[in-house]
Amino acid sequence: MPPRTPASKAAAPLQQPEQPIPLLINMKAGRHFRALLNRWLRAQENSFRPIPCDTPADMQQQARRLADTCTPIVAVAGGDGTLMTAAQSLIGTETALGILPSGTMNVFARELGIGSRCYAIALQAMLSHSYRQIDIFTIDGKPFLQMAGFGPDARIIQLITPRLKRTLGAAAHVITAMQAATERHAVITLTLPGSEELTGTQLILGNGKRYGGEAMLFANAEPDDGLLDAVMFQQGSTGILMEVLSSMLQQGGTNRNSTEGAQFRQLNTGIIRAEENLAYQLDGDYAGTILPGQEVLITKLPHTLKVCVPPTPTTAIDRLKAHAVVEELRTRLSNAKHRKNPPTQSSSSP
Ligand SMILES: [Mg+2]
Repeated sequence: MPPRTPASKAAAPLQQPEQPIPLLINMKAGRHFRALLNRWLRAQENSFRPIPCDTPADMQQQARRLADTCTPIVAVAGGDGTLMTAAQSLIGTETALGILPSGTMNVFARELGIGSRCYAIALQAMLSHSYRQIDIFTIDGKPFLQMAGFGPDARIIQLITPRLKRTLGAAAHVITAMQAATERHAVITLTLPGSEELTGTQLILGNGKRYGGEAMLFANAEPDDGLLDAVMFQQGSTGILMEVLSSMLQQGGTNRNSTEGAQFRQLNTGIIRAEENLAYQLDGDYAGTILPGQEVLITKLPHTLKVCVPPTPTTAIDRLKAHAVVEELRTRLSNAKHRKNPPTQSSSSP
């Protein structure tokens, strides 16, 4: 793992940046949590310079322009998919990605200790001069930050319609999971260097420990160790779910505790193929379908992505206190207390 800036050597966190940090916002994503983010941003009006982006191409163009002019940090508001969209223009540059985790699951931000919708920690990370150089892996040339899934988990995402997502948010997955469970699963083959082959019905690749929220699937994974963690499950739908939950309850698996139903490996390249149409997802977004006979390559990009991280590890309590909802609640309680017991004038004069 490349050295990380020690907390003791990091600059003391500032309240505000010297110059507002450019903030790319995807105007068509994350509507569920936009109001919360907007309220927090209004209170931080001198910290950011919002740049609305209408399309992924627009966001990439803005990020590239900022990197070309050697901007030290480009902040992005959104979930893992939106972060990856902007990050594609920052890979291999000196410009660091600043994360304002305002998507549904925010797995990558959780992996780096920022948490989900913990905007105070996110800003502290951007002001602390503490960074990690993140590995970027690609599937069929498409990069991802945190995870890639092949099989039923991708099919569940593929089946979610925009309307279902708008109405139910993360709960839409439950509805489409029931639909995906009734389908026949393609047999997947992952060929590793040395010609080892793993076969199964659900393949998950992880650039970090987490898969969906805080739950960990890969015990030893690090996003900057040059390796990709992989697990192949060999069950039907219910069996896959039980294996995934079982691995998560044990804080993730490794190649040392692989079972017949869940085989864990670490790799830096590989080839994926399937006997039938195989849906895949990257960072929680449906990314495509591998056709029978098609061979899809896993590759590691030669350059890394510089990302702002908190200078010291944050605990679950830190993240809870820094969550935007908790921050807002504390402010309201403080204001209410202030109104009820206004400060009295000093009467200590002789
Ligand atoms: Mg890794």
